[in-house]
Amino acid sequence: MNFIQTRGCDENSPESVTFSEAILSPIASFGGLYVPKTLPELGERFLTKHLNSSYKELAFDMLEHFEIDIEKNVIKKALTLYDKFDTPKNPVPVVKVKENLYISELYHGPTRAFKDMALQPFGVVLSSIAQKRSEHYLILAATSGDTGPAALETFKNRANVQVACLYPEGGTSDVQRLQMVTEDAKNLKVIGINGVFDDAQNALKRLLASSEFKKALKEKNILLSAANSVNFGRIIFQIIYHIHSYLELVRQGAVEMGEKVYLNVPSGNFGNALGAYYAWKMGLPVEKIIISSNENNVLTKLIKTGKYDLRDLKVVNTTSPAMDILKSSNIERILYDMFGADRTKELMQSLEENHFYELRADELASLQNCFDADFCTGDEGKKYIKDTFHKHGYLMDPHTATCMKSYETCSKKDIKTIAYSTAEWTKFSPVIANALTGEVDGEDLKALLAISKEANLKIPTMIKELFSKKITQSTVIEKEDIEKEILRFL
Ligand SMILES: *Cc1c(COP(=O)(O)O)cnc(C)c1O
Repeated sequence: MNFIQTRGCDENSPESVTFSEAILSPIASFGGLYVPKTLPELGERFLTKHLNSSYKELAFDMLEHFEIDIEKNVIKKALTLYDKFDTPKNPVPVVKVKENLYISELYHGPTRAFKDMALQPFGVVLSSIAQKRSEHYLILAATSGDTGPAALETFKNRANVQVACLYPEGGTSDVQRLQMVTEDAKNLKVIGINGVFDDAQNALKRLLASSEFKKALKEKNILLSAANSVNFGRIIFQIIYHIHSYLELVRQGAVEMGEKVYLNVPSGNFGNALGAYYAWKMGLPVEKIIISSNENNVLTKLIKTGKYDLRDLKVVNTTSPAMDILKSSNIERILYDMFGADRTKELMQSLEENHFYELRADELASLQNCFDADFCTGDEGKKYIKDTFHKHGYLMDPHTATCMKSYETCSKKDIKTIAYSTAEWTKFSPVIANALTGEVDGEDLKALLAISKEANLKIPTMIKELFSKKITQSTVIEKEDIEKEILRFL
């Protein structure tokens, strides 16, 4: 299967590229993104065939239908990474919370957030491609908290790749920071920046675009890539669990094969929701995809009004920081799929130049045919965390809690909902402790212990261990010194 570009093709780049090429250099003509030329049609026959398959069997067959240029044994090896999840027989358990509401838990991987679902196998795939081509890559990552640990974990000690991971010192939770600074491998460098997430992200974008930096790397025989969430190598692994979650509902007797469900996705950069959309297009029976946001509610406004409006807008810090995003990159792939390359280029250019675009009435109708949306404030979220725990015995994190609001406001109650849980309670414990007990101390360890006691839950070993592990990555620098520091590491 080949990949084409969301904003059309300039004269310098080929009409289409292979999967390997699309994931090694993910930015396409005119600043666009790569998308599959066509999606495989799976339909109900595929679903029925996999009713009794394991997650890995389902994943392997789905990836085969994409006909990507990755060898079968590499894909098989990549999928064995799901065996390391703490629920190895079923890496994505789906739990009934109440009548018609099911939660698909995407956080059972090594770093306890949904980024592992894609990054775990992606690390194997990328390293294999690099080895096959006898190339060496520097992977840059900028993180506000969840991507960094997941990227470090997956590339740790892998051949032909090195990682430089930038995070805002003081801008992540204790658990997130410890997950990064205790990583000990020769091919990993973690760099704290005196600044905020945007400083780290801007530095990354500057380096990716800098010919001088690329030249300096070339002298060392190193090529540059990024593990950000627009990389299709991540998206492809985010289609599988939507299909799996539906099959779980059929297996549990909650729906009949073919019965439509809502997929309710807590969204930031829209990678998770895009995976849901592709699964639907490939034949999953879906009523609608519901997009849940926090106070940074650009996606709710887009879906309700057709306007993407960033004018005079600033990111606000919320209790669900992984969704504190205004430029939601993967929306572009939806625009392309619905309205084509010319229109996508026009809309994205308007967003870049005027910080604004508006869909036509017919375009908005198409969007609303597939999506509905609502946003949930931090206080509402804490109330949902507390109430769901007390009424139904289910403890959720603040990102997952945003789905509870849109579940109430956007779904007809006779249709079942699969909502996605993107992080374990251990990753955002101060907010959850505050929701449950009113405790306001910001320290993770105290919060973890308080929740563990209140909810009678065990703190997983890999989280508990972090607090006594040796700190091996202690570099904290000014943002002007990032390039120098990376070159020194290499
Ligand atoms: C990354 C992340 C999200 C947002 O996912 P997108 O694919 O960027 O929309 C939501 N919740 C958590 C905990 C995350 O780490």
